[in-house]
Amino acid sequence: MSRRTKIYEGKAKILYEGPEPGTLIQYFKDDATAFNAEKKGTINGKGVINNRISEHVFTRLAHIGIPTHFIRRLNMREQLIRQVDIIPLEVVVRNVAAGSISKRLGIEEGEPLPHTLIEYYYKDDALGDPLVAEEHIACFNWCTNEEMHDISSMAIRINDFMCGMFAAIDIRLVDFKLEFGRLYDGDYSRVILADEISPDGCRLWDMNTGEKLDKDRFRRDLGGEEEAYREVARRLGLLNGEDNGPGEVFDLSHARSRLRGPPPLKK
Ligand code: C5P
Repeated sequence: MSRRTKIYEGKAKILYEGPEPGTLIQYFKDDATAFNAEKKGTINGKGVINNRISEHVFTRLAHIGIPTHFIRRLNMREQLIRQVDIIPLEVVVRNVAAGSISKRLGIEEGEPLPHTLIEYYYKDDALGDPLVAEEHIACFNWCTNEEMHDISSMAIRINDFMCGMFAAIDIRLVDFKLEFGRLYDGDYSRVILADEISPDGCRLWDMNTGEKLDKDRFRRDLGGEEEAYREVARRLGLLNGEDNGPGEVFDLSHARSRLRGPPPLKK
């Protein structure tokens, strides 16, 4: 068996060459890092859960018309994705003050923000991913004005959708991080959602108890990170066969028959 070609290894994921040109395999590790990799550890089973949660969220975002890199889940830890040129920005969407904004501006954690905020951080580990203004993005040509427009409007739609999705399972979406990439078609390119969406890159608080169900458990030594990640997956219906199988596209006939309930019993 030939060994696969590793394209890139990050803190929580590995990218391998895909089976066809223009595709990659995204492998989810159990490794966890925080504070720009100053703190390192593992969260048992995290890769499996994040693969599943990210598949779930990306599939549903595709249903509302958000273009994403996700093609299908291949197995417990891997998904097939479209190869993109990653735009060097971490796009953070905030609904409630927490983490770095609380520290930077002295706003108490848990304070709802007057309106949703989008922040941009320049993706550069050596610089510690600094916060940048739209003017910096334009000045250094990290992306065009048109791409910025697409990114910000997708970020708002994703936030609206995810706030509702999590509210339905009693989870408050405090903030989250997105990454986007350019998908080329000849001389043209368009911006699509890339990377992952999982409790590694979101703040998720239980609506009733305020309990943290995300990577802050690891960052802040709260313990129970495995249980928290599993709880998010469980509430999303991903641990007990309630969801569609690996990478299946939402099947309306299946959903309809579920709505109608089981067929009547034969007399
Ligand atoms: O640390 P900060 O408050 O800026 O993080 C905002 C959100 O972005 C959090 O949900 C965090 O998990 C996510 N984030 C991330 N990767 C980073 C920085 C932040 O996923 N490098």
